[in-house]
Amino acid sequence: MRSCDVLVIGAGPGGLAAAFSARKAGAGDVIVLERDRKAGGILNQCIHNGFGLIRYNEELTGPEYAARAISEASDSGAMILLSRHVSDIRKENDGSFSVSAYTKDGIEVYRTKTIVLATGCRERTRGNISIPGSRPAGVFTAGVAQNLVNIRNVMIGRRVVILGSGDIGLIMARRLTLEGAKVMAIAEIMAEPTGLARNVSQCVQEFGIPLYVRTTVSRIIGKRKLEAVELSDLDKDGKVIPGTARRIDCDALVLSVGLIPENEVAQTAGVRLFANNAVDTDRYLQTSIPGVFSCGNCRHVMDLADYVSEQGELAGRNAVHLINDQDMESWDEEKSNCMKKGFPDEGSVTCTICPNGCQVVWDEKAGTFSGNRCRRGARFAMEEKSNPVRTVTTTVKTMAGDGPLLPVRTLQKVPKDKVVELVSELRSVRVEKPVGNGETVFSTDIEGNHITVIATSDCGE
Ligand SMILES: Cc1cc2nc3c(=O)[nH]c(=O)nc-3n(C[C@H](O)[C@H](O)[C@H](O)COP(=O)(O)OP(=O)(O)OC[C@H]3O[C@@H](n4cnc5c(N)ncnc54)[C@H](O)[C@@H]3O)c2cc1C
Ligand code: SF4
Repeated sequence: MRSCDVLVIGAGPGGLAAAFSARKAGAGDVIVLERDRKAGGILNQCIHNGFGLIRYNEELTGPEYAARAISEASDSGAMILLSRHVSDIRKENDGSFSVSAYTKDGIEVYRTKTIVLATGCRERTRGNISIPGSRPAGVFTAGVAQNLVNIRNVMIGRRVVILGSGDIGLIMARRLTLEGAKVMAIAEIMAEPTGLARNVSQCVQEFGIPLYVRTTVSRIIGKRKLEAVELSDLDKDGKVIPGTARRIDCDALVLSVGLIPENEVAQTAGVRLFANNAVDTDRYLQTSIPGVFSCGNCRHVMDLADYVSEQGELAGRNAVHLINDQDMESWDEEKSNCMKKGFPDEGSVTCTICPNGCQVVWDEKAGTFSGNRCRRGARFAMEEKSNPVRTVTTTVKTMAGDGPLLPVRTLQKVPKDKVVELVSELRSVRVEKPVGNGETVFSTDIEGNHITVIATSDCGE
């Protein structure tokens, strides 16, 4: 049996940051148990950029962010053990905890003084919402669609309808469009999109994808395979308005209808949960069981990985403070709630330099700007109007043939109207040898500018 001071369950951004900070705060042995074969959590399939703006002051893709978090944790001396599915937590008479994990060789038991739960969340499925109609193939949750398209090289459909306008659905709308699908509609039951304004602007409006609010999928049509869905308008009480149903032919329906904190392991310890399955903690991120802390999406679903990491750091530090009988630090619940959500304001430019997503209005005649919280927003708005550019993120095939894809991004920004063309060109690229994160896999010239495409993850031996 292995013993440690802090045992972290889950190696997503929350768990990795907790392990890193526990070591930094002076913990002796820190162990992270992860059920997957790879650390990084859900970020490994989030190949787009927009991560790290707060934590690293740099714009990274999901896999790049995950790689940084993994290095920080392992360089600090924390031990990350993969392929360990934690099944049970038990409190011992001496106040410590026994934690059991399934491995391919059987069950392992760990003994620890404190625990940080960082088990993330899972998606709501069709079973969690009731959509009338048949049960054909072709209905996916957004995360499953993301995994199939971004990692497994499986295109889920050519004509796609998305139900729900949370960030994962919006990001998938752009991704599927770049991969050559037509996103016929995004339907949102609320009066405003629920995702960040920056994602509504850059993932939906920029590609001319129709987004209907107060609208739902009222029927799924198709016997074995999805043939169509019926969209209906909703009144302000969320009831279908009779006579508004219209049929949209499609071969894939993507559900982006919310996330549920994943807390089965927490329950084995008797940790108190809210009705939505989130962990109830005090302001120090300690659960109803002293010595057990919780952070990230299993505690409360958060919009940005950067804030998850920040919270993980606090949970890891507080676990060490508890062991050392020191004062614990409080989590500021408001901190992660300052970002603009919903439709961008009319006539504004959504600044994407940082997650605040300021709605900048540039009065060209008067030469004035409003809505920007800092000067960078003014520069962004001017560039967006005169010469809009984007970092391109996509995948390329590898020597593994039909195996996992390699996520890539451009080092330089590309004119906005050349993005689709470049992604299409990259679809025929195949990387024939092992490459490391940051290595060049392709280069080209666009309008006289040299564009380098780099791997954002390791691939091969
Ligand atoms: C499909 C999807 C896409 C998302 N896209 C974005 C995005 O683009 N940008 C963004 O900022 N946020 C995104 N999010 C939100 C994202 O979840 C958070 O930003 C962040 O990854 C949450 O970190 P976490 O550490 O709490 O959880 P996760 O990243 O989910 O990590 C939890 C880890 O715990 C492990 N685990 C769970 N149970 C056990 C167990 N019993 N034993 C051992 N290990 C276990 C899991 O395998 C996983 O590795 C997305 C979420 C989902 C579900
Ligand atoms: S204007 Fe400043 S604060 Fe606002 S989104 Fe842009 S960079 Fe962030």
